[in-house]
Amino acid sequence: MPFQPPTIYALASGRPPSAIAIVRVSGPRAAAALEMLCGGLPRARLATLTTLTAPDTGPIDQAVALWFPAPHSATGEDVAEFQLHGGRAVIAALFAALETIEGLRPAEPGEFTRRAFENGKLDLTEAEGLDDLIHADTDRQRRQALHQLRGLLGHRAQSWRQQIIEAMALVEAGIDFSDEGDVSAELMAPALARVDALKCEIQETLAASARSERLREGLQVAIAGPPNAGKSTLLNRLVRREAAIVSPHAGTTRDVIEVHLDLDGYPVTLIDTAGLRETPDPVEQEGVRRARARAEAADLVLWLCEADDAASTPPELAGDAPLWVVRNKIDLTMTSVAGEGTFAISAATGEGVDALVTALVGFARETFGGGEASLVSRARHRALLTETAEALARAGQRAGEGDEIVAEELRIAIYALGRLLGRVDVEEILDSIFREFCIGK
Ligand code: GDP
Repeated sequence: MPFQPPTIYALASGRPPSAIAIVRVSGPRAAAALEMLCGGLPRARLATLTTLTAPDTGPIDQAVALWFPAPHSATGEDVAEFQLHGGRAVIAALFAALETIEGLRPAEPGEFTRRAFENGKLDLTEAEGLDDLIHADTDRQRRQALHQLRGLLGHRAQSWRQQIIEAMALVEAGIDFSDEGDVSAELMAPALARVDALKCEIQETLAASARSERLREGLQVAIAGPPNAGKSTLLNRLVRREAAIVSPHAGTTRDVIEVHLDLDGYPVTLIDTAGLRETPDPVEQEGVRRARARAEAADLVLWLCEADDAASTPPELAGDAPLWVVRNKIDLTMTSVAGEGTFAISAATGEGVDALVTALVGFARETFGGGEASLVSRARHRALLTETAEALARAGQRAGEGDEIVAEELRIAIYALGRLLGRVDVEEILDSIFREFCIGK
């Protein structure tokens, strides 16, 4: 019997109990699963109401069954899908029945998407976009991920790769005719012109995407300042005012509290650090050390101090993050203190907080680039596109050293784009990317 890949199954919908649960089965035995549970194959791609029945234990649930014969399915394999009631016992009974079918086993994280990738349904950048879409918290993250899932970077990379292959064909033809110097030069000139244009296009794409891969992680804003300046009060006010995504963040320590905010679609993590100050207490010193480390790693530091505290000066931080001075408790003072690059607020009453939020949104827009979702959304993409552009640049610079050198640089560029698309020996990359997925995806 020829080798058959295992047929995999998993819950594709969220954590039970839920109104409806979706269980997917993919692989050569998907039809066997449907026949056993529904008493026959439903019509392809048509929702069919049926009573799922296990041969040993009897009826499981009334459910909708779907049958997607290969290759017209999400994974490119035969796929069965069950939409049943989302109770834990219902799902457990279906899993128990599936387990009895030979050749079936539970799916590993990302295994459905990996099969889709291996069957050419998605390239690697699209698979990454799918993962980002599932994990998108804010609207801008969603739009960027969708961009990627629709294959915009993948299609562009595919076309660049094709054009470099064509340029390489010209260079190699020149090598074959190297006895006849004129032919070689005639072929080389258009190849180099094309390579130079491609290099510019890739560099422009990288520049336009500025730091947009950071959109996946979000902007880190540290709130620092002396004890009692009102850091927690400000944090609480911002959380109440904006849609806080998660609060507090897992991994919160006693010293550092994080909340994730959605500021006009930009993901922003606010970090409330313990008071930064000199202290003899060793436990507190450790807190101050961590607070300082977080503040130094942040993209922006809000230095909060009391409005009439003229003595409070921001600390010298090692990082290159800008520092905004925010004078708090203006409700207690009569003097207007806001100056250049300084904010004056009352965390208690909310006065001045709108202006601070508007400035934060502006800062986020500047950091991420405010325009349309960009093509480059991961450090992996940026690294490989940079490698491609550099190889193309070297091909141009070293043209005088011989056709073989140019061909070699073009080969490096083609290889880098192949890795971007996941079409060349990238087993470890694939493992690390698909492991990040959820089970059932
Ligand atoms: P933290 O140590 O910097 O986190 O400071 P807290 O947020 O715990 O605030 C210290 C004290 O100042 C609390 O009693 C707050 O109620 C008070 N506080 C914070 N912001 C304001 C403000 O804008 N106006 C007034 N009047 N009191 C404030």
